[in-house]
Amino acid sequence: KHAGGNTFRKFNSQMKNVFVSKVLMEDDLRQAIIANNQFELFYQPVMDVKQQKINSCEALIRWYHPKKGLINPADFIPIAEETGLIIPLGEWVIRQACRDLKRWEESQIHLNISVNISAYQLKQSDFVERLTTIVSDERVLPNRIQLEITENGLMENTTDSINTLQKLKQIGFTIAIDDFGIGYSSLSYLKQFPVNCLKIDRSFVKDIPSDNSDSAIVSSVVKLGKDLGLLVVAEGVEGQEASDYLSSIECPYLQGYYYSKPIKFEDFTDLMNEHVM
Ligand code: C2E
Ligand code: CA
Ligand code: CA
Ligand code: CA
Repeated sequence: KHAGGNTFRKFNSQMKNVFVSKVLMEDDLRQAIIANNQFELFYQPVMDVKQQKINSCEALIRWYHPKKGLINPADFIPIAEETGLIIPLGEWVIRQACRDLKRWEESQIHLNISVNISAYQLKQSDFVERLTTIVSDERVLPNRIQLEITENGLMENTTDSINTLQKLKQIGFTIAIDDFGIGYSSLSYLKQFPVNCLKIDRSFVKDIPSDNSDSAIVSSVVKLGKDLGLLVVAEGVEGQEASDYLSSIECPYLQGYYYSKPIKFEDFTDLMNEHVM
């Protein structure tokens, strides 16, 4: 009984700490967005298996907190979403990706960039207009940008999502379903959602080929993608074995630490110039 009471008290004070740190984080996040010099986009290559070269890259945000140092997106994106700050932050991401794309163009590096879009951004009634304004401001053609949206993000409001995606695709953006396989969608939605690409969630990829069920799932998704005319990317490729297996089942695109971690713009530029992949 006594121990139970203590546990309860401890639980309570932990909850309070979580709450306090969330509020502090929200304040800091707001400041960071205003100051606009604490965020950076890192880039991770997506490999083209057949051509044995870099096909494109994914932009992944990093936050340099003035006191806490580097904070990973998993620790602040959810707070940005809860507080609505994901809207200005998400727009910064798209604008910065466009600017980086232009900077690469200047050194003859022609790369398409994939950016992560939160369900909260997609839900805005004027999302399409906001997005087109940014890319035309930055003089980037929409077909250079792929939008990655998680399965669950698409499922939240299906008719609206389908409408929005249809418009985006018409304008020229490419659409990928991120973390494919772990969400709540059903396969029939693949017919309705105007998507171009499936990104197989890393949880299915990390233990292949030794895990038989994972290998079966991944090879089925690769086949499904092929039959539906969709591009397929396997995420979280960490070693040679997974890479070899994925090549053998003709998964067209691979992404993961085996090739490169997400790296700074300058380092990605070097990587492109070296052609060492
Ligand atoms: P995600 O979109 O699924 O991105 C892939 C994550 O897996 C990245 O983590 C990447 O660093 C990591 N990763 C890549 N290859 C490997 C691998 O081989 N092994 C392992 N263990 N991990 C690998 P990161 O950069 O920490 O991002 C985490 C998540 O935060 C992203 O998952 C995405 O959902 C979100 N995120 C990142 N940047 C943005 C952004 O600009 N906007 C939004 N809305 N969300 C973002
Ligand atoms: Ca992603
Ligand atoms: Ca993913
Ligand atoms: Ca994810």
